[in-house]
Amino acid sequence: MLVLVNMNNQELWQTMLAQIQTDLSPANFSTWFKNTKIIGGEKEKIQIGVPNSFVKEWLENKYHKKIFKIIHEINPEIKEIEYLIKRYEAPENKKSTEDVIAETQLTFQELNNNQENNLNAKYLFENLVVGSFNELPYAAASAVEENPGNIYNPFFLYGGVGLGKTHILQAIGNQINKNFKKKNIKYISSERFTSELISSIHNRTISSFKNKYKKIDVLIIDDIQFLSGKEKTQEEFFHIFNVLYEKNKQIIVSSDRPPKSISYLAERLRSRFEGGMTADISMPDLETRMAILKSKAQEKNTDFPDEIYSYIASIIKTNIRELEGALNRLIVHQKINNNLTLEDVKKILKEITAPPTKIITPKKIIQTVADFFDLKEKDIINKSRRQEVVRPRQIIMYLLREETKSSFPFIGKKVGGKDHTTAMHSYKKIAQELEKDKKLEEEIFLIKERLLNSP
Ligand code: ADP
Ligand code: MG
Repeated sequence: MLVLVNMNNQELWQTMLAQIQTDLSPANFSTWFKNTKIIGGEKEKIQIGVPNSFVKEWLENKYHKKIFKIIHEINPEIKEIEYLIKRYEAPENKKSTEDVIAETQLTFQELNNNQENNLNAKYLFENLVVGSFNELPYAAASAVEENPGNIYNPFFLYGGVGLGKTHILQAIGNQINKNFKKKNIKYISSERFTSELISSIHNRTISSFKNKYKKIDVLIIDDIQFLSGKEKTQEEFFHIFNVLYEKNKQIIVSSDRPPKSISYLAERLRSRFEGGMTADISMPDLETRMAILKSKAQEKNTDFPDEIYSYIASIIKTNIRELEGALNRLIVHQKINNNLTLEDVKKILKEITAPPTKIITPKKIIQTVADFFDLKEKDIINKSRRQEVVRPRQIIMYLLREETKSSFPFIGKKVGGKDHTTAMHSYKKIAQELEKDKKLEEEIFLIKERLLNSP
């Protein structure tokens, strides 16, 4: 019996990914499941392509049970899963820290959004500072908002992180919402769109998903660059796009780069985007950055001397969100001690100008290793001798020594009251094995990378 008769292999794997993702930390999901896909299969057996032997081993030893359970639930005919190393051309969807920040920001923003159209009342044209850096997109956005669907369609807005793309997109939505009460507006990030699509595949509600989108009058999709490489999602989006476009419905899209620079974007979608109006936001100049700071301060009923605005604007040049962040910090300090001087401000914002130093704490090491091996911290710290935890525990002791230069008595105490000889022994054991064990070396490399890159 097939539960999902129409699900092809790729959809099956996408659904599996969507499900297992909820079980794993984002770091683990990305380490073990990035660049995996179904590469073949017969009736009872499917083959998963994985990028290297390291991942293959982990999936086989650690995640196979989970994977199999999910796959088998979706399609009970499948009795066997095989993992094969396969270097297919995969989009290197590596996210920069900025991308990640932009995403988390968005999720956080979404908390305040209207449930139906996802609009957030705080983004308006009234509080958008316009300067030469965003004059053109602003003019285009105003034209779109006055006459949705008829002038610039689609409207493609692009620019770097924190320069006001979401603000403009949302402002268009809010303005249309005010002037055209009957119009059905929907704002959504492309990430959210993708996960909605995947869960609709899983829940077999794909047709109602499509119908919902086909009824929209103004569709606003933020950060479309995240569709890069997601073929299935692009296909569905393309379809929805065409239906809306033919009915003269307004489509508004943002991206951190122009259409031609989005890799792994289907050609037909790219040419659709290029066929409308594209406008880019550049960097605000010093005066504009000061004007933005002043206007944000005013919104919060406060003000600073010009030399302070000028100082902030001189150290933060490329990101309006960061400008705002610095200002907010000052406002907090202002509340504690009135009349901040420029010297105070320099001290408060010192971190922004100084290169970041990463402090690795024992706690952080324990958390990171536990997460890496998908174990609970307390299981590692307690006295269990299960092989499963012995190794991670040794790695923790090794890293505590290497990364924090802690003494062996301290290390022993940190991992559940072991004495210092145990700590010393563990450290030596890992150090020795590292010389010949490639797998261990890779694991420790990945763990260190996480230690350095996590917030
Ligand atoms: P992006 O989507 O391009 O990453 P956002 O639209 O999220 O950037 O903008 C980041 C922050 O900066 C938001 O709080 C936004 O309100 C503010 N902002 C951006 N551009 C302007 C502007 N021109 N005037 C006032 N505030 C702005
Ligand atoms: Mg944005």
